[in-house]
Amino acid sequence: MGPVEAFVKGMAVTARQFFATITGKGLVTTSYPQEMRQKPQRFHGRHVLNRYEDGMEKCIGCELCAGACPARCIYVRGADNPPDDPVSPGERFGFVYEINMLRCIFCGLCVEACPTEAITHTQLFEMSTTNRSDAIYTKEELLVDPDGTPNHMFDSDRFANFEELAHADGWMRATAPQGRAAYQGQVAWSGSAGVGVRPPEAGQSEEDPPTDETGAED
Ligand code: SF4
Ligand code: SF4
Repeated sequence: MGPVEAFVKGMAVTARQFFATITGKGLVTTSYPQEMRQKPQRFHGRHVLNRYEDGMEKCIGCELCAGACPARCIYVRGADNPPDDPVSPGERFGFVYEINMLRCIFCGLCVEACPTEAITHTQLFEMSTTNRSDAIYTKEELLVDPDGTPNHMFDSDRFANFEELAHADGWMRATAPQGRAAYQGQVAWSGSAGVGVRPPEAGQSEEDPPTDETGAED
């Protein structure tokens, strides 16, 4: 290939990309944050503390999540349930619950360790703050309402996509079958307030859903 032919070929690539950009066809970028790409089901976003369908808290204050956390960013204190007005099923409930999101590495070990599926990830990742104290999420922000509505540090945060906070349980649903093929398609998790019992994950033998050019599922 001569230098002129190589030059013309190179410029053809440039021209093709130029027109693809100005026409918007074939682009792999999206107009974030106006346009949110669909995230994988097992995305590790901001945590929530879940409730059962009857509104009781799933956390029993056992501190296993805090013990499993490699970043030492969870602080839990359990307390005895009031016999006449229990907060959770069983003897104890999570009286204090805090996660320091500045330390969290979003590894999901707290979710794995939790015996009651109380703590789960969501798909929300917009969590920037302007001071350190706002990065400490307390039980008030982490615990969902009795109807399953998640809470946020800043109710008026125009950059937070609250729908992504409603994607709780995704990680738990993915890991509940312990990776054993015999459990594929079987529900092995409890229902949650506001959403009920989530359907089983598609499983690894299923074909991936068709995607558009941006990688988002159709
Ligand atoms: S995701 Fe990992 S680092 Fe973050 S709180 Fe859970 S165990 Fe700790
Ligand atoms: S979130 Fe789960 S592991 Fe952590 S204290 Fe509550 S019940 Fe125990």
